[in-house]
Amino acid sequence: MSRLTEAAPSEATLPETAPLGATLPEASTLELTPTLPAPAHASPAPAPALPHLQTLLDEQESPLIEWPRYSCALGAQQTVVAIRRAAPILHSGPGCSTKVQALIGQGEGYAGGSTIPCTNSGETEVIYGGESRLREVIDGSFKVIDADLYVVLTGCTTDIVGDDVGGVVGEYQLEGRPVVYVETGGFKSNNYVSHELVVNSIIDQYVEPNKTNGGVKPGLVNVFASVPYQDPFWNGNLEEYKRILEGIGLEVNILFGEDSGGVTEWLSIPEAQFNIVVGAWVGLEIARHLKELYGTPFVHFPYFPLGARDTTAFLRQVIDAVDFDEPGRARADAFIRGEERKFYAHIDTLMDFLLEFRYALPRRLYTLLDASYALGFTRFLLNEVGILPAQQFVLDNTPERYQEEIRKRFSEVSHLGLRSAEVAFLADAGLAHDLIRTDAGVGPSVCDAGVKSRVRDGGVEGVADAESRAGVEGAASAKSRGGIDVGGSGSGSDGSRTLIVGSSWERQLAADIGADLLIISVPVVYRLVLGAPVIGYRGAIRVIEDLYTQVLNTFR
Ligand code: SF4
Repeated sequence: MSRLTEAAPSEATLPETAPLGATLPEASTLELTPTLPAPAHASPAPAPALPHLQTLLDEQESPLIEWPRYSCALGAQQTVVAIRRAAPILHSGPGCSTKVQALIGQGEGYAGGSTIPCTNSGETEVIYGGESRLREVIDGSFKVIDADLYVVLTGCTTDIVGDDVGGVVGEYQLEGRPVVYVETGGFKSNNYVSHELVVNSIIDQYVEPNKTNGGVKPGLVNVFASVPYQDPFWNGNLEEYKRILEGIGLEVNILFGEDSGGVTEWLSIPEAQFNIVVGAWVGLEIARHLKELYGTPFVHFPYFPLGARDTTAFLRQVIDAVDFDEPGRARADAFIRGEERKFYAHIDTLMDFLLEFRYALPRRLYTLLDASYALGFTRFLLNEVGILPAQQFVLDNTPERYQEEIRKRFSEVSHLGLRSAEVAFLADAGLAHDLIRTDAGVGPSVCDAGVKSRVRDGGVEGVADAESRAGVEGAASAKSRGGIDVGGSGSGSDGSRTLIVGSSWERQLAADIGADLLIISVPVVYRLVLGAPVIGYRGAIRVIEDLYTQVLNTFR
């Protein structure tokens, strides 16, 4: 079996010209260690990012969030939309739902988008309370939306006014109606956190009272992975998790999307032998809650697995938790071998392209993603594709209690133990843009400068002045300040090609620094996402296709 492996045994021995496949063991005879002279523009691998970046960022205390990529807590309306035949009902101001939809929506689903009923709370509801209006809207929803489950979600207005939403919904619950409520006032959290809250509320108010009491079913697992819609590839990703977990012999409650069994599947949550959480931190509160409620143990795989190496590691961790008998384990092993063989067979077909384009391939990587994707992509692109990490930016407002563990995982990102990646946790992606531009020796975009001068400084000022007041200084000064560097020269200065894995917000940045851009995070504007995964064995092939299609399109 041939494998693409991490490119560099060490800085000192790094082949100058071969970011991919520095070693190709076993069957492959292809040797990418260069025998050809490197062209003049080829350059050594970038230096790893220097420490203290997080300190620099913490000092900024940016008063604004530029390029946001998650929503307020009400974004969990999309969690409900992702459950087959479930309908959200909003008790919020007009416009809230549309705002969420504009950032993370993808079509209407069964009862999403403009279908979502809403109390459109205004002055009357603020002054006199909105409980009677909520009753009207719930009654109307039962009449016009044929759903299996209704979830009432509150917005800021309602939570500030203090309507007794639990009391109103409780009246319907006493009548046996399949309706639950969750307080998701936008100021309470972001939609990563409220996703967990919505799932736990459905478990408490709908699953628990209606559970089938079938006892624990060996081999049945509940999977908590992507946050629907916040992860633009959620549907395809969940289908891939289900496919590979069924491939090793498990029965899978995937709970969201087209491959799930809707509310019937949710009602069997308590029967699972164990739960599986995939991701850096989102989903852990759900698994802990289920452990408390039903004693169900859980397996936690701390990043999104891409490619054969990490997907197999994920499946092996699950297999260890199942305690298969001999024939079961043999079947699971055979499935994994088959998937790995197919994955590497596809990669093998890339070889002539990789050899031909070896001087024009991206060699350094920035990720601007949530923690689960950032770790998954950094690992995959380093260990299986050979792209070296520069600075990684985690933009999901990771709770502080999880940050140290995630930072450690970035420091161990290389499976050979030869490289580490530095990570910065940010809410304001504008700072990440500033640092990447600085790294590439490119000044702020006209748009950036305008926003910063207006918002950070409260007046219309020049670019240089605005930037220095914000504490994020121009290219020259930022690098010299306190010895801070963000990973060596950018693509503009040393000729090495750069890849940004981020969102549509990074389009101008990528154009300005001459980088390739892979759009994986919301907002997704410049690509179509339907049902393809970007995780697992199959998703990683899709990522490689997208990546090198981009490279070919921008090749000069
Ligand atoms: S922050 Fe509050 S007002 Fe704004 S969209 Fe979210 S729920 Fe509505």
